[in-house]
Amino acid sequence: MVSVGPIAINKLAQARQEVTSAGRLSEREALKKLRRKLQLSTAERNIALQEARDIVQQCRKQSNRRSLLDMFMSEFSLSTQEGIALLCICEALMRIPDDQTAEALIADKLGSGNWDEHLGSSDSLFINASTWALMLTGRIIRLGDDVTKNVTGWMKRLVSRLGETAAREAMEQGVQIVGNEFVVGQTIETALTRSLKNYERCSFDMLGEGARNYQDAERFFNHYLDSIDYIGKSVKETDSSGDFSVSIKLSAIHPRLEYRQKQRVLDELAPNLIHLALTAKHANVPLTIDAEEADRLELMMDILEALVANPEIARWDGLGLAVQGYSIRCYTLLGWLQALAEKHDTQFNVRLVKGAYWDTEIKQAQVDGLTNYPVFTRKPSTDLSWIVCAEQLFDSPNLIPQIATHNAFSMAAAKQISKGRPFEYQRLHGMGELLYTVAEENDSEFPPVRVYAPVGDHENLLSYLVRRLLENGANTSFVNRFLDEKCELNDVVHDPISRVDAYECNPHPDIPIPPHLYGNDRPNSLGLHLGDSDEVESLIRDIKKLTFPTQPVPDTHPNSIPEIFCKSRKAFESWNATTPNHRRQLIYKLAEELHKERAFLIKLMQEEAGKTLLDAVAEIREAIDFCHYYGNECVERLKPVNLVGPTGEQNQLYYKGRGVFVCISPWNFPLAIFLGQIIAALAAGNAVIAKPAEQTPKVAQFARRLMTYVGIPTDVVQLAFGSGVIGQLLIENKNVDGVAFTGSTATARTINLTLAQKDGPIVPFLAETGGINAMHVDSSILFEQSIDHILESAFQSAGQRCSALRLLCIQEEIFDEFVDALSRAMETLTIGHARDLATDLGPVIDRQAHEKLYEYVRSQRRNVLFDIIVPSEYQTTHIGPTIIEIQQVFDLQEEHFGPILHILKFKARERVQLLESISKSGYGLTFGVQSRIDQRAIEATEIVQAGNMYVNRNMIGATVGVQPFGGHGLSGTGPKAGGPNYLMRFVQEHVTSTNLVATGGNATLLNLSD
Ligand SMILES: Cc1cc2nc3c(=O)[nH]c(=O)nc-3n(C[C@H](O)[C@H](O)[C@H](O)COP(=O)(O)OP(=O)(O)OC[C@H]3O[C@@H](n4cnc5c(N)ncnc54)[C@H](O)[C@@H]3O)c2cc1C
Repeated sequence: MVSVGPIAINKLAQARQEVTSAGRLSEREALKKLRRKLQLSTAERNIALQEARDIVQQCRKQSNRRSLLDMFMSEFSLSTQEGIALLCICEALMRIPDDQTAEALIADKLGSGNWDEHLGSSDSLFINASTWALMLTGRIIRLGDDVTKNVTGWMKRLVSRLGETAAREAMEQGVQIVGNEFVVGQTIETALTRSLKNYERCSFDMLGEGARNYQDAERFFNHYLDSIDYIGKSVKETDSSGDFSVSIKLSAIHPRLEYRQKQRVLDELAPNLIHLALTAKHANVPLTIDAEEADRLELMMDILEALVANPEIARWDGLGLAVQGYSIRCYTLLGWLQALAEKHDTQFNVRLVKGAYWDTEIKQAQVDGLTNYPVFTRKPSTDLSWIVCAEQLFDSPNLIPQIATHNAFSMAAAKQISKGRPFEYQRLHGMGELLYTVAEENDSEFPPVRVYAPVGDHENLLSYLVRRLLENGANTSFVNRFLDEKCELNDVVHDPISRVDAYECNPHPDIPIPPHLYGNDRPNSLGLHLGDSDEVESLIRDIKKLTFPTQPVPDTHPNSIPEIFCKSRKAFESWNATTPNHRRQLIYKLAEELHKERAFLIKLMQEEAGKTLLDAVAEIREAIDFCHYYGNECVERLKPVNLVGPTGEQNQLYYKGRGVFVCISPWNFPLAIFLGQIIAALAAGNAVIAKPAEQTPKVAQFARRLMTYVGIPTDVVQLAFGSGVIGQLLIENKNVDGVAFTGSTATARTINLTLAQKDGPIVPFLAETGGINAMHVDSSILFEQSIDHILESAFQSAGQRCSALRLLCIQEEIFDEFVDALSRAMETLTIGHARDLATDLGPVIDRQAHEKLYEYVRSQRRNVLFDIIVPSEYQTTHIGPTIIEIQQVFDLQEEHFGPILHILKFKARERVQLLESISKSGYGLTFGVQSRIDQRAIEATEIVQAGNMYVNRNMIGATVGVQPFGGHGLSGTGPKAGGPNYLMRFVQEHVTSTNLVATGGNATLLNLSD
């Protein structure tokens, strides 16, 4: 038994804290710290530079020896239209089951681009073969078809000469040629045979997307297990024992590798991982855990801790972890790994890479509203971090360095850093071959090289391939440029440190930090950083400490309504006289308070509306975004406009508030929609009487308290509580100057009628109602990606969003398989109390809604294809996610406001009729398309014409100012909330025309000079 001293434990806890805290550093601070730690001297860097340049020069001279992949990369770089088209084809073609869609994909991608240029430009059989294969398929594009318009003449000639099937087959062969270069074998048996012949050291990677369900996870787990077993047995008696390792992705062996699901992951994944590691240990097959996305890092650390807590594993030195130099936390992570290894008196293999998810990390941080990026934003910064991390790695006695790069300077720098200490290089199969061969030829003591070798069939290979092409085809990538004679040698091989010094550790000027995403004038609201355990846990603690006010909010007495209007009218006069700047100031203050009070707001929303933590955070962000957006809009758009006219007069258009607006909001967004309406009305100069939903008065009451706190006069925003009866009394009142409503189509109709039948002025009515929102899924999609989008669209917020997906239309050829995969993914959703971080699906709003949904599902039981049984304690509050099959679009006549997804099978040839039926439903709120074929997505969105259309993403969570939200037809009147036209519906326009001559002559005219 390994004895663990208190010092080691403290060191580990401290190291862990450092990792968490490092994530909060600004990029500049983080880089400056690393810069100070750098040990590599200028002289050493110059040696590395010289060595790297020599290697590249030699490679350039022998470029005929370069790998086929290197050729492919220089022929079709990502910067060309053809390169992108090829990527899309590679990624999708092999998995499409039906010819029609496969051909449509090829037509779509080859419809543009100049393929002739690539023919004959390379002397490689490979490039010509793939180009030829691709061009050949040009002929499948039918002449006269719309798609053919921009097809090159060369392709058109082929169209008439060749048959369709032969060409598609040629195309598939072309893709396979490309694929074969990346994969070492389709099975572990063939992969090992090939590797034993070609490589001294190898780490096998089993290809595939991350698991989305438990069956996938089990399949991957068994695959890993069998491979370890096979490798162990095959190399047992040879000298190669230990040289053939396996790399695993934790996201492949658990469908919910998320911090939110920590306990479940530790309970379910850790025992499996221990089993894998012990098998690997006994088979003498080293095991490395790949590095994945940044917000999974802390969870992976927890898992690793659980793993080495097993003494048998702790006594093994074959366990490894990949770490990413682009990560701001990488340096501290190495400190933690050293501390963990020390605590258990063991050693870890550490593979230092730069990181494969850079673009994803940047986008995700923007979407999540983080304060910083988890990665560096400039390539030299990543290079510097990687070098300092390499130094730390070599200086850590319990860590065994594995240096993974295809960059000549990084390779040479690692050699300088090692100062003769042993290590191994790592490269990817099919890449960097020439570089390593030349480097090895130049150095008799060149360290051993391990090749990371993907194993799998072509279908699974292609998404990996795309990842690699994206990563290495970019202009910043070394591999993309090193053999290109047009790129200056000194530019390809440069010293990243001097570049970092030149830009003084500053982040990339064109990648603003997430809070500045919308420029300096409008801050992005801050979200919750799920990759930062401290931040998440401290918010949860704060929420727990708070008490939910149990005192009910009394309904407004009908008799008091005239008095409310009276106060409102008075308050309006002075509020309308304030400047837009003043109003913006107060509204911005409100945004600040909303953020400060987020714990209490979350508490209220969890208790009153059953919101999960993430839904509540997103809702607060939306409310804050409304404040910033409308606050700015009132200053920018309500400026008086001077109009051009005859001389001697001044014509000016200006805007004022209309008077008293009644705002009626729903329970499903008790804060964001409630405040969105109010803030727009206030910003425009109106007074507001708001009636929140009767289910969520406390959220509204608290939000109003904040409005008062920041200085918005009490009578400018008044609340009226109660049921629809109160709402009806409000809109019937003759003093109403406008109504903003979000809710059901039926209530919107009633309001419309009431307003129309009233005496007095005709007032504006803005309605946002529901929809029967559909999504179209064709057979070109990547299942895993679409399933993620569908789960979010249909079941997030328990389906209680007006944008939620109600009708999923799936192409016949993939229908059964897709529904099966979707159902299995649904099984991984956690049904629970809104309070629990792990909960994906909370309660529906109230008993009445529950009964209605329950009865509906019961009435449809013959058509229910799949449902999740709700745990007994939630039987009366929750509805399990359910799939109901229907035969035609018109079978679904109304919106069922819960986690109920209707699905419909369609034939590819009836696609257009299907889209037309969706369009004829009369609703027009949201619509989604999942397809790799751009032309189809364009066509679908043109036919359906919904208010908000989403292509290859989820269809909920519209962002203020980015995706202005709202529908038409039965789904609403417009204008869109959070869009540039919304505020204008709340204003009255005035024009003043002043005769300047009346008080004297036309001095300006008379004084005109010659
Ligand atoms: C054996 C092996 C195993 C691997 N395992 C993993 C793994 O487990 N997890 C993983 O994530 N990756 C893994 N990779 C992929 C690895 O991250 C990429 O191959 C690597 O980033 C490319 O780096 P390079 O040194 O070869 O090339 P370079 O061209 O020097 O670096 C390219 C890299 O720089 C970074 N970068 C690009 N643009 C910017 C920018 N503007 N700002 C900041 N940084 C930028 C990115 O990380 C990009 O990939 C592995 C690679 C190898 C060889």
